[in-house]
Amino acid sequence: MPARPQTMQSKPLATSLAWIGLGANLGDSTATLAWALEQLHQQAHVQVQRASSLYRSAPVDATGPDYINAVAELSTTLAPQALLECLQGLELAAGRQRPYRNAPRTLDLDIVWFGEQQIATPSLTVPHPRWHERAFVLHPLAELLPERISASQLQAVQTQRIERLPQRWTAWAV
Ligand code: ADP
Ligand code: MG
Repeated sequence: MPARPQTMQSKPLATSLAWIGLGANLGDSTATLAWALEQLHQQAHVQVQRASSLYRSAPVDATGPDYINAVAELSTTLAPQALLECLQGLELAAGRQRPYRNAPRTLDLDIVWFGEQQIATPSLTVPHPRWHERAFVLHPLAELLPERISASQLQAVQTQRIERLPQRWTAWAV
């Protein structure tokens, strides 16, 4: 039997853990974040493993209403760029517009870390370049991965107003 052409050989897809930051400050932000997690979990190649508590934070370098934020841990067989495109599709579906930089938004989904990968392409920088400067990323990340966030990193953002909310997520797991 002839060998299968190289391109037909099936290759096991590696599963990566990725951490994404979710934020919203227009509309029903809490509902939008829950919707985003449900949508992500329903993607064929993405599973939402864990999510932090919900947080309320003051806008950084921007005006507008307070944000609702969280960080979620995903397992995925998608490549980083494909995950970014998936996140951007959800932002669009949630009515995201970009009238100017740091404008209020119905939904912002950022890749904070993608496994241990370091990526620098025109459309994607991973780890996210500002993850360690933002209380709204550090606090939820510290909840999920306490061993990876130090007290001094949290102290460095202590002037940024943020509070953990008592609300629970509506379930996203099937
Ligand atoms: P921001 O989240 O920085 O306020 P946007 O959500 O409007 O701004 O994203 C602007 C661009 O940032 C996107 O078009 C995307 O290509 C790029 N980008 C670079 N790295 C990342 C990342 N790690 N996660 C999400 N977007 C990223
Ligand atoms: Mg973004």
